Amino acid sequence: MENAATPLEHVRAEIAKACKASRREPGDIALIAVSKTRSAEEIAPLLEQGHRLFGENRVQEAQDKWPALIERYPDTQLHLIGQLQSNKADDAVALFDCIHALDRPSLLKALAKAMDKADKRVPCFVQVNVGEEDQKGGCLPKDLPAFLAQVRDADIPVAGLMCIPPFEIEPAPFFAFLAKLAADNGLSGLSMGMSGDYPTAIMLGATHIRVGTALFGARG
Ligand SMILES: *Cc1c(COP(=O)(O)O)cnc(C)c1O
Repeated sequence: MENAATPLEHVRAEIAKACKASRREPGDIALIAVSKTRSAEEIAPLLEQGHRLFGENRVQEAQDKWPALIERYPDTQLHLIGQLQSNKADDAVALFDCIHALDRPSLLKALAKAMDKADKRVPCFVQVNVGEEDQKGGCLPKDLPAFLAQVRDADIPVAGLMCIPPFEIEPAPFFAFLAKLAADNGLSGLSMGMSGDYPTAIMLGATHIRVGTALFGARG
């Protein structure tokens, strides 16, 4: 194993390759290590290698796991990448540095209230249901401009747009579509790309990639 690159080094090399191909700078890509379902012991090696940006998809799980780790690594940034229930808005605002799945007016209201109460503005990505799938969260593309206006009215900082494309079909057209929606709405942040497709996402403009399996192995 002596010469084997760590998964983190491997992913960083893939990011560099995709950046080179698309004339981008690796420093402009935020690698969110998706640590959902992983124990503190599994997360520790990444922290020890200097990685400081992590994503979780459940508020409760993150509350159980992260405060102790953040105490040891205070410069850690934690992003909430999963669906958020409105009744968890206060907890989410308290713990996370960024929220990736703002997708509906009821959640917008809950988050605005939570941010006012905590006197803390947490940047949010607006999730777009790019495949217009019934079972998936996200604002429909046609509703996006009006929803963005509501988010801005509520004084919630907009980090950009986020998507989870339909599974098992080529994601590139959906990434390109999200990039176009962002450009049309004057936004530059793009949270897109997971373990199976992050190089493609980078070549199509991703600024935040959410990578779990490629860093931690398959989830049990
Ligand atoms: C789990 C998850 C990821 C990471 O998926 P991998 O395929 O393990 O890289 C990315 N984004 C969201 C929203 C997720 O829930």
